[in-house]
Amino acid sequence: MSDKFDVIVIGAGPAGYVAAIRAAQLGLKTACVDAFVGKDGKQALGGTCLNVGCIPSKALLDSSKQFYGLSHNLPAHGISVKDAKVDMAAFIGRKDKIVKQFTGGIAQLFKANKVTPFFGKGKLLKGNQVEITGNDGARQTISATNVILASGSVPIELPFAKFDGKHIVDNAGALDFTEVPKRLGVIGAGVIGLELGSVWNRLGAEVTVIEALPDFLGAADADIAKIALKEFTKQGLAIKLGAKLAKAEAKKNEVHLTYEDKDGAHDLVVDKLLVAVGRRAYTDGLLAEDTGVKLDERGRIVVDEHNHTGVDGVWAIGDAVRGPMLAHKGSEEGVAVAEWIAGKAGHVDFDTIPWVIYTEPEIAWAGKTEKQLKEEGVPYKVGTFPFAAIGRAVAMNEAVGQVKMLAHAETDRILGVHMVGPCVSELIAECVVAMEFKGSSEDLARIVHAHPTLSEAVHEAALSVDKRAIHKGN
Ligand code: FAD
Ligand code: NAD
Repeated sequence: MSDKFDVIVIGAGPAGYVAAIRAAQLGLKTACVDAFVGKDGKQALGGTCLNVGCIPSKALLDSSKQFYGLSHNLPAHGISVKDAKVDMAAFIGRKDKIVKQFTGGIAQLFKANKVTPFFGKGKLLKGNQVEITGNDGARQTISATNVILASGSVPIELPFAKFDGKHIVDNAGALDFTEVPKRLGVIGAGVIGLELGSVWNRLGAEVTVIEALPDFLGAADADIAKIALKEFTKQGLAIKLGAKLAKAEAKKNEVHLTYEDKDGAHDLVVDKLLVAVGRRAYTDGLLAEDTGVKLDERGRIVVDEHNHTGVDGVWAIGDAVRGPMLAHKGSEEGVAVAEWIAGKAGHVDFDTIPWVIYTEPEIAWAGKTEKQLKEEGVPYKVGTFPFAAIGRAVAMNEAVGQVKMLAHAETDRILGVHMVGPCVSELIAECVVAMEFKGSSEDLARIVHAHPTLSEAVHEAALSVDKRAIHKGN
């Protein structure tokens, strides 16, 4: 086989593997280089998302939700279960099986689409050549007309709380505890801190979350964040806001840490410490010095609005470039770049990318928050509807939270939708479609929603924008 390709993708995460499949679908001779080593020591495609991110975290969130529900939801249904226990090997084993199923699935998809996989570290050389160094140190060079850089991201390490993989861990470590830590410290009340903190809290760990910023979930709409904070606190997560970690030290089987807030310095001893203070674009060893590809001040690969690096035939997508670090954002960029390379009209709408946090209640949003609209001076109307008035949510005993819709005061166009409540990860999709089609709250208000469903909360919030919700006072 010739080692000249139309497209080489470096990185097989949700950005890279999707780009490779789409490029191959479009008839381009495509290779994908990835260095990720799975738990079995073999190549595991799928990147952070499939191996140590989206998929395993959702597997553990779902298992722990089932366990927590036994004591916190089933009694309300008149069902009692005594002496429920978690078999940790089976709990983690189920997650590992799901990961293997999906990473293996990518290998099958590559085969079916005739994408050639390479296992090793890829380095872009001048002239769109890619040098691949295998785990055994063996090197080979392949070349292509187009190279797509999709090297993803890695956790940020704090210099005073370095990962040791045993006591002070990152997301990968917190997905693989062999027993439930009695006391878990979490640095960062961001998406990972809340999701993985919830997993271990539901299994009985005492979880303390230390967040540097004074506001909880600053990226979310303030009303939604307020409800979520109240619920998480009720569940037992001790969330300390405006608190900065000063030091953390592993001693014997404990981690001793000190954090500072407005009241001074506090000491805390935990069994495990998860540091989840954000991720950084990963470009270590990716670029030879003379490629001309530039990095910005945060180490991200610089690209234009078409994900082009400015170097002929070199593109970059996913967590390694600007924009939210979300799997679906990277995948859509991957599709768009493959289509641009093939001379088609690719497209990613950054204004309607949904965010979901898979806690209980779940949090989801798309578009602008109320604070952003105020800052931008955009006139808006607000409609809200509580899940407490939704029959289905009450029947499920999950009637917590609300849907909040923001529409332009004059045109009624939907500008943002923010939710906290049951299954809002699914409900947000309807709003994304409406926003993508430049829909108005009136459009959603006129659509027939099945009864009794959770989606009625979206319908009622849309009605509430014009103060005509049926099942609440306006
Ligand atoms: P990655 O998934 O990081 O993949 C990059 C791949 O490139 C890796 O396999 C890496 O080994 C490989 N690589 C890097 N450099 C080289 C090189 N030089 N040569 C060869 N291979 C290389 N996002 C969501 O949208 N929903 C979620 O629910 C969600 N949950 C998450 C939970 C956790 C715990 C974490 C950590 C992240 C989560 N994310 C979630 C974020 C999501 O995982 C990332 O946004 C997504 O994986 C980014 O995709 P990517 O393809 O850009 O990079
Ligand atoms: P994050 O940016 O979501 O949250 C990090 C938090 O740590 C922030 O609130 C920040 O203020 C805080 N922080 C930073 N330095 C600190 C310090 N020294 N002490 C205390 N707090 C500090 O980052 P993350 O949770 O690490 O997740 C990384 C990214 O992965 C997310 O931004 C998201 O893009 C992606 N992700 C997405 C999902 C999802 O879509 N459901 C799930 C997990 C991760």
